Amino acid sequence: MRNRLAKIVATVGPASAAPSNLELLSDVGVDVFRLNFSHGKHEGHGKVVDAIREIETRRGRPIAIVADMQGPKIRVATFSDDHIELRYGQTVTIKIGDDEGGDGVIYMPHPELLLALKPGCYLKFDDGKLSVKVTAVGKDITAIVEVPGKLGNRKGVNVIGAVLPVSAMTDKDRKDMVFALSKNVDFIALSFVQTVEDVTNAQEIIKGRAGLIVKIEKPSAVDDIEEIVRASDGVMVARGDLGVELPLEQVPVVQRRIIQVARRLGRPVIVATHMLESMIDSPTPTRAEASDVATAMYQGADAVMLSAETAVGRHPATTVAIMDRIIRAAEGDPDFWEGFKGDKINRRTTAEDAISASIHTIAHTLEAKAVFGYTSSGSTVKRIARTRPPCPIIGLTPHKHIASRMALTWGVTPIILKDPVNFDDMLGSINALAKSELGLKKGDTVLVSAGIPFGQPGTTNTLKIGVVE
Ligand code: ATP
Ligand code: MG
Ligand code: MG
Repeated sequence: MRNRLAKIVATVGPASAAPSNLELLSDVGVDVFRLNFSHGKHEGHGKVVDAIREIETRRGRPIAIVADMQGPKIRVATFSDDHIELRYGQTVTIKIGDDEGGDGVIYMPHPELLLALKPGCYLKFDDGKLSVKVTAVGKDITAIVEVPGKLGNRKGVNVIGAVLPVSAMTDKDRKDMVFALSKNVDFIALSFVQTVEDVTNAQEIIKGRAGLIVKIEKPSAVDDIEEIVRASDGVMVARGDLGVELPLEQVPVVQRRIIQVARRLGRPVIVATHMLESMIDSPTPTRAEASDVATAMYQGADAVMLSAETAVGRHPATTVAIMDRIIRAAEGDPDFWEGFKGDKINRRTTAEDAISASIHTIAHTLEAKAVFGYTSSGSTVKRIARTRPPCPIIGLTPHKHIASRMALTWGVTPIILKDPVNFDDMLGSINALAKSELGLKKGDTVLVSAGIPFGQPGTTNTLKIGVVE
């Protein structure tokens, strides 16, 4: 069991896709792997899924896999040297096509740009790190570099000052989704969600075969955040594109708000992008980055995510190890727990909500060492988790796919276990697990939440305060 309650999501890429690297990252602390379908081919992603499932079995530790759909994101093509240098004041030519660019020449496989762009528009590259101002649009596009830097293969592009005709889900997304579902991934992440219809349309394709994570990176999604989160099974604060689509000073404000809404509605929430960005090259992060990870914890995020750091960085395992240390330090701060006492969570008048609220209070009062929750859909455990009790939550479920999905939720250690036959059987198996898997000692207090009779979903009605024997 991990000595940490919040979760770490790591993006898989060339720096981490080999089975031995995946295993190392999982051992160092990754709970959830993200496959970015913007990059790579099905064959490669399929191999990664198979390797992760093998690690899961070998280690006996459920791992969640997120298949992230590209969505209507536009990108540059490639370069003969894998990147070019954009110099301040330089004139560049943007050609339509998927060929290799070079000094001063960028290809983009998006003909619709010629219709939409006008002189005076801006193109921002790589989550807004570089930008050019459009000066002429003809057969090609001419632009002048305003924010210089290095531009790599397939980096994303945001158009400022013009609207491109786009649908929420592209043909590529549909094909990628069918493939990802055939590989039994645990979550599909949907990019550039704008309306609740985008979410319900995707849910109709997924049909419950995976959870749906909405990536919040458009101003219109922020406006409808409640409804969109409610229609989802998880949320990602996708700060890369969000910080280009919105004024960047709005990112911290919006991040905090999204986390609050997600927690209130009991959806796991991931804070993503640039968390330990300098570790792509450097073996240590900046102090500001360390603070950023800790801040996400204090705000109540379930998980923090690494992107290029683990996909293409020089130190994937070190980055995960440092993220793990930053999270554990925050969780070791008594003030961290004060922040979750008595905070406002929408409770419905149900037995489940009453029980999860009591668990939070009792766990504090009795200094409980663990909470055990029996769950067939995962919902009971998510309810317990959103109150942020000060100890691990052991999510017991007979279903393998629910166990893997729970790996994303704050505080939850999923364990696959058959439903007990009766109350005594339940107490017996919890006592055994407490000692063998969790290292608890005789006399430790544990809480158990269950629905009795067993095996009927949605009947959580019992809370037992137990002592390890
Ligand atoms: P998104 O908007 O979905 O985050 P992204 O292009 O920003 O897309 P990230 O997953 O955030 O992608 O990764 C950051 C960078 O790492 C990418 O821009 C890309 O250069 C690199 N990268 C990520 N995954 C891969 C991969 N599988 N193969 C090659 N490069 C990758
Ligand atoms: Mg990104
Ligand atoms: Mg994005």
